[in-house]
Amino acid sequence: MIATLALLLGLRFGAPGVVVVTGPAGEVRVPVRSGPAGAPMVPASQLVAALDGSVTTDGVWAEVVVARQPFRFLVGAPLYIFSSQLQTLAAPVWLTRDTLYLPLQFVAEIIPYYLGERYRYDPRRGRLEDLGRRAAPASNVARLPNGLRPGHIVTIDPGHGGVDPGNPGTYFPRGVREKDVTLQVGLLLRDELKRRGVGVRMTRTTDSLIALGDRGGYCTAACDLFVSLHVNSLARRRGYTQIRGFETYFLAEARTEDAARVARMENDAVRFETGESQGPMTGGLDFILKDLQLNEHLRESARVAELVQKNLKVVHTGDDRGVKQAGFMVLTTARRPAILVEMGYSTNPQDGRFLTSRKSQRSMASAIAEAIVEYLREYERKTGAADSGGSR
Ligand SMILES: [Zn+2]
Repeated sequence: MIATLALLLGLRFGAPGVVVVTGPAGEVRVPVRSGPAGAPMVPASQLVAALDGSVTTDGVWAEVVVARQPFRFLVGAPLYIFSSQLQTLAAPVWLTRDTLYLPLQFVAEIIPYYLGERYRYDPRRGRLEDLGRRAAPASNVARLPNGLRPGHIVTIDPGHGGVDPGNPGTYFPRGVREKDVTLQVGLLLRDELKRRGVGVRMTRTTDSLIALGDRGGYCTAACDLFVSLHVNSLARRRGYTQIRGFETYFLAEARTEDAARVARMENDAVRFETGESQGPMTGGLDFILKDLQLNEHLRESARVAELVQKNLKVVHTGDDRGVKQAGFMVLTTARRPAILVEMGYSTNPQDGRFLTSRKSQRSMASAIAEAIVEYLREYERKTGAADSGGSR
């Protein structure tokens, strides 16, 4: 009775009674039934047979391979892993009487999203169209709709947090500090990147403190890029509220006094970790310069910084203050290309409003995400050129 009701509800919300998989092998009809949670489900074995894929399970994990791409599902949970990224499902994967059921979402959304080059889904007719393997593809790696290979991971580091509020946010609404704005934009950036098929690791998703030296550790071998988000501010002096705008840093020795000042300010967060001020960064620069020699990602970092700055210019109402270099401690520990974005000045009234408006936070997140995708595409082209030379 409950199952029937759920099925009816499913139908009412557009779930078909069968999905038809069409492809070189003709048409295969895969039944859709309602799962325990009421969501429409498809039997995995019949689905992969129609897709010329495979499914194996040990009762805990189920691996479904489609177009040579493995999707790993956690049985009984609404979770799956693709390209090393844990993702959520609309309903739990369901194992009953030796039959494994996957949410219809896998057919309707996930396959067309990740394997869009090969599969298209028509929700009106409940049809998944297999366009077949393209003749002599440039690469046999499936690509996302935006041209990227799946599997990229970007670490987002919302600056400050917990007992370290960052700058006090002179022109932010009452009670809002730098750490709040960096987290808000960081979470939006995460969503924007995920929507573009880029995996994301966050150094924090809540109001918590992470040691500066540890933040970079979130971006090691399997990470493509480290992005730290901050808000700038100036000390009180004549005309200090006039300065506004955004700037993007990559790691290097500070070129200007202002860049050195910003680095000192952000590095100063170290004192929250021990509870006492360590004063100016004595010895810190040596450490940074030594690290710099080990950091072979300078050119990449500078390129991302340039793209981020270019895209922010389109959406930001403040001044384009350019790409800069400075010795940020948070960047030295990242073993991959790394940038730090100062998204505006909280000591300027217009920037203060801009940085705390949801709408402009969204447009900044989207602009940064686009820049990152552009960078990753360039990087793939550069490294991919070498690949295809060898495989030909
Ligand atoms: Zn900061």
